[in-house]
Amino acid sequence: MPPDCIFCKIASGEVKSRIEHEDDDIVVFHDLNPHAPVHLLIIPKKHIGRLSECSEDDVHLLGKIQLAAKKIAAKLNIENGFRLVTNNGRNAGQSVDHIHYHLLGGRRMNWPPG
Ligand code: 5GP
Ligand code: ZN
Repeated sequence: MPPDCIFCKIASGEVKSRIEHEDDDIVVFHDLNPHAPVHLLIIPKKHIGRLSECSEDDVHLLGKIQLAAKKIAAKLNIENGFRLVTNNGRNAGQSVDHIHYHLLGGRRMNWPPG
């Protein structure tokens, strides 16, 4: 783990966050600066910089993230409209270099995104 990775620190519990769900592989927690009534971040505990760095070894992990999004959307009653997005790289808006998926819901979304 890179020593200064904030999401590794959240995954290990060293930095506190409002955790919605956790298992052996992933953590789901509330974004510090929410852009929707529900704005969660889904991360693997394993440090991966971004989707571009994933390999075939990560197929199970990536599938788990999508299924966690589905389950949590149901739990938080946003099943009728939610968005799951990962920003890959600076040009896409990635600011934290530990792969994460934003789960957003609870309001009407616009398309295309900015
Ligand atoms: P990105 O811009 O990389 O796609 O998204 C990073 C997200 O992480 C941002 O929405 C930001 O608000 C959130 N974030 C950054 N640092 C922390 C933190 O320490 N705790 C929490 N809960 N969220 C954070
Ligand atoms: Zn990390």
